[in-house]
Amino acid sequence: MIDSETTDFDLARSQARIRAALDGVITIDADGVVVEWNPAAERIFGYPAQEAVGRTMADLIVPPAMQAGHRAGMARYLASGEGRVLDQRLEMPAITADGREITIELTITSFTAGGEQWFTGWARDITDIKRTEQELAASEQRFQAVVEHSSDVITILDGNGTWLYTSQAGTRLTGYEKGFDPEGGIFALLHPDDAGLALQTLQEVLAGTRGPDEPVELRIIDAHGKTLRFETVGVNMLDNPAVGGVVLHARDVTERHAAEAELRLRTQQLAGVLGSIQLGVLVEDRGRRVAVANDAFTKLFSSPVTAEEMVGADCAAMAEQVKDFFLEPERFVAGIDRCVTGRAAVSEEVTLTDGRVLERDYVPVLSEAGELDGHIWMYRDVTDRKRAEDEREHLLEAERLARRSIEASQAVLEVQNRSLRELDRLKDEVVATVSHELRTPLTSIVSFSELLDDEQIGPLNDEQQEFVTTIRRNADRLIRVVNDLLLLARLESHTIALEYGPVDLADVARSVAGDYQPTADEKGISLAVADGSGPAGWADRERLEQVVSNLVTNAIKFTPPGGQISVQAKEIDSSHCIEVTDTGIGIPAAEQEELFQRFFRASNAREATIPGTGLGLAVCHAIVRLHAGQIDVHSVEGEGSTFRIIIPARPPGDGSGHGA
Ligand code: ADP
Repeated sequence: MIDSETTDFDLARSQARIRAALDGVITIDADGVVVEWNPAAERIFGYPAQEAVGRTMADLIVPPAMQAGHRAGMARYLASGEGRVLDQRLEMPAITADGREITIELTITSFTAGGEQWFTGWARDITDIKRTEQELAASEQRFQAVVEHSSDVITILDGNGTWLYTSQAGTRLTGYEKGFDPEGGIFALLHPDDAGLALQTLQEVLAGTRGPDEPVELRIIDAHGKTLRFETVGVNMLDNPAVGGVVLHARDVTERHAAEAELRLRTQQLAGVLGSIQLGVLVEDRGRRVAVANDAFTKLFSSPVTAEEMVGADCAAMAEQVKDFFLEPERFVAGIDRCVTGRAAVSEEVTLTDGRVLERDYVPVLSEAGELDGHIWMYRDVTDRKRAEDEREHLLEAERLARRSIEASQAVLEVQNRSLRELDRLKDEVVATVSHELRTPLTSIVSFSELLDDEQIGPLNDEQQEFVTTIRRNADRLIRVVNDLLLLARLESHTIALEYGPVDLADVARSVAGDYQPTADEKGISLAVADGSGPAGWADRERLEQVVSNLVTNAIKFTPPGGQISVQAKEIDSSHCIEVTDTGIGIPAAEQEELFQRFFRASNAREATIPGTGLGLAVCHAIVRLHAGQIDVHSVEGEGSTFRIIIPARPPGDGSGHGA
């Protein structure tokens, strides 16, 4: 019984173990029928033992799709002893009593007892573990996806700086896909000058003295030898078991750098240009801080800081500081605010307390999208210009006043002239009237003295004869004067009708000279005249002969015996003229200008008591003027004179050639 007892004990112990086991224990016979189903199996699969025992394993827990395989495997084993699934950990799906599919880990052993083949399976529900594993894998994938698609390069180093991992952006940006040697690590890729900085940064990150918000810029030489700039921050995650390293985030800022360099260059160029101009310029950025100022600006406001030092200063505060420079400080500040909020260009003048006047132009800087990007102020000292403008205004005012007074005096002069002209006319009228009135009594004086002279009334004694001759001579002279005065008055008042026509000037000269030949001969003067026909003039022949007669009479009168006179018709520079030249006493140069005025007689003629009235040349002048011609004299006292009259070749307004 001992044996039997021992067996009973072993069995009881074994059964107790099975009952207490955490794993599901299922024993089946060679037909696959369940003979043992422990409490853990009840928990895992949901069937109580009394329900499970006696049913086939395939019915109970094997998913339908696997049932055929399960049966085939068992049959194969029973026939050949070959068991592919025995004594190893299997992971497989199973179906529970309530129809759920779970994943179990299963180990199957076989044994023989009582000549029968039995199988025992140890099953563990690993569904939750599996799910957790899958979730972990998914999370890992998500992490990879995020990291690998990030444009930042993410690198993980261990505590010694040994390379562990770099995200795809690293290979994409640097081109080190194949050539990268993980042994050399990423420090080998750095620009030699930056290796020290990189090492120091790593140490600081490890020591916790450099945080993730303190980037350093490191240069990397890429696979093509090009230098790239990376802004890098390091995070110490050595203590994080999931990471266990130092994570570096590196951002490619090469282009940003190039853009910044370009911007710096542009800013320098701008500053250079601004530095050389007279205009005071201040450029504010969007946040109303000084972006650029030039020397002219600081000079205008006597700034204690230089234009460069001004960069970054708060503009609103600055306006407050300088407002007292302005005559109207509050208006100045308000004006600036108005410009800044108005978003429109404004040009105005501001006056400083020291008297200077500045012209200020405001221009808003708008982005392409039309957003306000900054402000530009330009100040120009226009004090001098203003002063000049004021001065000009004063001068203009003075000129206006002067012009007005000139106009006033001109008006007065005009009035005076008018009354003078009126007087002149009255005088002419008086002269004409008086002359006219004188003519009749003079004619009777002449007639009666002729009667007396003829002794028709009775014989005169010598003394009486002499008186009568004197009376006649003076009366004749008076008549000539009166006639000349009347003629002059008529010529000047245009009340005499001239009969114009083409006149052969040489013929006129000849004819007049012929008339005076006897007189000249009598006085012992030679009188020469040109032969043939000369140029034509458009004239009243009778009046023209009168003019030439006067000139020849004068020439004879003022030329002493033995002298020479010539009368010539000439064409000089397309002018047609008659010249009367003598070798007489001439006319003093100073008096020649007045020669053609009424009653004028030269001093030498008066001194030589050569008789005359001073009316002949005035008459000549008046006639020539009526012909639209000219009369002039060329004379040297004591040597002789040449009088020349120029007569137009054709009627006034006639554009045809010479002569008519
Ligand atoms: P009159 O001969 O009657 O004095 P005119 O008017 O003809 O008046 O001349 C004015 C003056 O011009 C003359 O008095 C004379 O002084 C001067 N005069 C004119 N013709 C000549 C001349 N050929 N030579 C010198 N003096 C002349």
